[in-house]
Amino acid sequence: MKEIPIGIDLGTTFSVIAYLDAYGRPQTIRSAEGEISTPSVVMFEPGPGGVISANPVVGRAAVGAAAMFPEHVAEMMKRDMGRDTYHRPVAGRNWRPELLQSFVLAKLKHDAQLAEMPFRRAVITVPAYFNNSRRECTIEAAALADIEPLAIINEPTAAALVYGTQHGFVDDGRVAGVERILVYDLGGGTFDVTLMEIEGREFRVIGTDGDVELGGRDWDVAIANRIAEEFMAQFRGRDPRLDGRGFQKLMAEAENAKRMLSNLEQTVINLEIGGDMLRMPLSRTDFEGLTIDLLERTVFTSDKVVRDAGLNWGDLTRILLVGGSTKMPAIARRLEEESGIAASKVLAADEAVAHGAAIYAGLLLGAKGIREIIISAPQLEGVSVKDICSHSLGMLVKDRKTRELRDSVIIEKGSRLPAQGERYYETTVANQRGIKIRLTEAHQPIFENVIPLPELSPPLPERSPVRVEFTFDNNGCLEIVVELLRRMQGIQLSASQVIHQQRIRFVRGELKS
Ligand code: ADP
Ligand code: MG
Repeated sequence: MKEIPIGIDLGTTFSVIAYLDAYGRPQTIRSAEGEISTPSVVMFEPGPGGVISANPVVGRAAVGAAAMFPEHVAEMMKRDMGRDTYHRPVAGRNWRPELLQSFVLAKLKHDAQLAEMPFRRAVITVPAYFNNSRRECTIEAAALADIEPLAIINEPTAAALVYGTQHGFVDDGRVAGVERILVYDLGGGTFDVTLMEIEGREFRVIGTDGDVELGGRDWDVAIANRIAEEFMAQFRGRDPRLDGRGFQKLMAEAENAKRMLSNLEQTVINLEIGGDMLRMPLSRTDFEGLTIDLLERTVFTSDKVVRDAGLNWGDLTRILLVGGSTKMPAIARRLEEESGIAASKVLAADEAVAHGAAIYAGLLLGAKGIREIIISAPQLEGVSVKDICSHSLGMLVKDRKTRELRDSVIIEKGSRLPAQGERYYETTVANQRGIKIRLTEAHQPIFENVIPLPELSPPLPERSPVRVEFTFDNNGCLEIVVELLRRMQGIQLSASQVIHQQRIRFVRGELKS
């Protein structure tokens, strides 16, 4: 049987799975519940005697149970990816965020099987601004769900791929001139903004930025806080945020009101907690006032991406809106005001990322000739994607003169993937027995460890050259090569004799040989 190209958008609040049909068109695979997306929510059912069920309930059913058993429910695990544990205990124990995420992936895989789309490999998307350990964690989550990642690609890149290949402007083979697109992706828990250039059939990322701590959820919180104030004013200072069940109810009401206000000018919030019943009208204008600072943060980041790429808004040809939160009318309005460009909503905001991932899976599986798996898809032939490194990567090294630590960047932010960089350093003492690697990402130290060196004869003198090479692959994963060299008179460093070499991968915040 031929392998079906599968793409997965593992979202903070909702996840979507799609396949590429034989004509190169992405199609969403519906969940067992018949929905196009699955809430990324996991619940461990309390069993007899407090035993936790090994098979958690995932998706819509878990959302339904959240108000009843809030302490048994995990949500927004994606925000914690890369950390050791989920930010609070669930069902009485601490969980690795990637394990919680893997339950969502397993449900998607299971539902695809029900829909007769069995698969083992899939392209999985991550926010462009995800750092190395968050990406590694995503790969780990896939492995735990028995899914082999064909590739990890950036969500905005995936969205642009759909736009470019399904919505016309590369259908006759190439785009006229260069398209410069800003992809603005505001989901439930993350914000990503990416600048892309499309020339002919080449999709190039030229800039990216974002905020992994900003999303639709923050808009909900703003409404929830407003409701809570009103509730406290009316009911003897009773704060609905302080009670687990009350809090879940409050958040659900807030999100519901937010969605209503995307279509209506005015809504009414009803919240009942322990017999106290609040009825509070909320207008779209009030809502936009409560959340203006959040919107401005996204505009600030978008402006910065454009400027960092050495461009002005006038150089862009399109703005693409992706993510459920871009349904809030204020977003398009504010972006249009800032840029003078009409924001495009042709993409299905909820499905575009998964669709792009499915297209990418098709491109990868069909690399040897797309016709092996696809009958006819002229819009996909020859399409290539070039992504960039979203953070600088380097090492802290001691400056010989000042004796102070400084960040020596080995791969610059914005380098084209796969990226490679090397630098030469020196050992500090004779016969040095270890090299301290203090890895930095975006100039912040993220990891340190000592790589032991063998005893060498003849022993190496002090100030022996050390070559460090970083390779950042297409998935955004890092490999480091450290080489100890013997300095020889009249011979260039690059031609020096290698005495010792060590190759290391950076996995889940640890270096692995
Ligand atoms: P993620 O990829 O982060 O999981 P999505 O792109 O699926 O997120 O978007 C989910 C977010 O979109 C949620 O915060 C949800 O409340 C919000 N959302 C969905 N529909 C609407 C709407 N009609 N109006 C406003 N916000 C919406
Ligand atoms: Mg998303």
